[in-house]
Amino acid sequence: MSYPDTVNLPFNRACLRDSFRPLSPDTVVTDEPGFLLLIRGEELLLLDEDESLLLPYGSPPQGVDPDTLLLMGSWEGRPLRTGRLSPSAPLPAQYAAEPFNAYSTRLDDRLLTLGGIARILLAWNHENSHCPRCGGESRHHPGSWGKSCMVCGVQRFPPTHPCAIVLVRRGEEFLLGRKAVWPQGRYSLIAGFLDVGESLEECAQREVLEETGIRITNLHYVGSQCWPFPSQVMAGFVADYAGGELSVADDELEDARWFTSHSPPLSLPGRRSIARWIIDRYALGNLHNNL
Ligand SMILES: [Zn+2]
Repeated sequence: MSYPDTVNLPFNRACLRDSFRPLSPDTVVTDEPGFLLLIRGEELLLLDEDESLLLPYGSPPQGVDPDTLLLMGSWEGRPLRTGRLSPSAPLPAQYAAEPFNAYSTRLDDRLLTLGGIARILLAWNHENSHCPRCGGESRHHPGSWGKSCMVCGVQRFPPTHPCAIVLVRRGEEFLLGRKAVWPQGRYSLIAGFLDVGESLEECAQREVLEETGIRITNLHYVGSQCWPFPSQVMAGFVADYAGGELSVADDELEDARWFTSHSPPLSLPGRRSIARWIIDRYALGNLHNNL
């Protein structure tokens, strides 16, 4: 295995290959027509042609003000603009509304990844029109998605919140937990947000200990995935059991258990998540399993 190994999953920009080129919203492309990535509530609005979902091209549909669209990059050499419609906006003629989530079976990896980038940029733009320090108007830096306050000059950039996600192994066994809101029988890796002043390794150790009472050692980084719900990056680790008795002591998990590849949980996280990617490779032994 080459290291670091790019995790070939949706939401990571690598799966767009050369088709997408990011651009700052002030890039001059005049009125050149292009592709549209429209979001309504938690749905992508796409064209449904011959059972395939496609990015619309050309003028925005009725009800979408072209001046509210943001340039997010180029797609197949043409401008790609994005915009958000009200959740109650009527569906434009000839459009299909597809729920935007990692479990979608109709959104291919490229549409999921473009949708994730659009979602993060639209939220950043919408929620940061004014400076959090003085309330002054904020505008984009030239050539960047960052923003500057027109009054006090403070500069800010789109945030990404780091999380550690950890597979713990003990011989043939591996440790998974479940949240009460998940579908029945679903178990996944232990994960949590980086705390103030922590390294990712410290975060991984703390989350496993807090959520399960288990201490870990031999921690290895194995890859990461952008996770635009709303704006995380999931840093994946594999670790070995070092000690402790399994106990679910905090409010995060409903249950945690040791499983084996011969007796896995009834349901695992979706195949498009780094959680499943790690479980498949390092717990179920489908690929590399030799850290
Ligand atoms: Zn300010």
